[in-house]
Amino acid sequence: MAIEGGCHCGAIRYRVNGELLGVIHCHCSDCRRWHGNYSAYAVAKLADFEFLSGEDTLKWYESSTKARRGFCPQCGSSIFKDNKDGEKIVLSVGAIDAPTGLSFLKNIFEDSKGDYYALPGA
Ligand SMILES: [Zn+2]
Ligand SMILES: [Zn+2]
Repeated sequence: MAIEGGCHCGAIRYRVNGELLGVIHCHCSDCRRWHGNYSAYAVAKLADFEFLSGEDTLKWYESSTKARRGFCPQCGSSIFKDNKDGEKIVLSVGAIDAPTGLSFLKNIFEDSKGDYYALPGA
């Protein structure tokens, strides 16, 4: 299974040659502020991941000591989260080309969720 994705303007494109487990919705305050709402992520092994274009264009924002977030400076799409463990890269599911073949896996940081929505489910 190979999936491809990229930012809104198309400058940054990538491919993953391997399995993605499913969609994780993160309700932490960092994600909600960064994405404008809770985030939808799928985790890829770094070994399965490759840039097709735009690796030099991509910018990283250090959102905490443990995580950085990758975005396109031309169109503003926030497309990656990197937990700096050197093994995985976290993909924003909305930037993956359809059909993703993915389905809901779980919610995380539910205690930090906004008061303006119900938790998403399967
Ligand atoms: Zn872009
Ligand atoms: Zn989060």
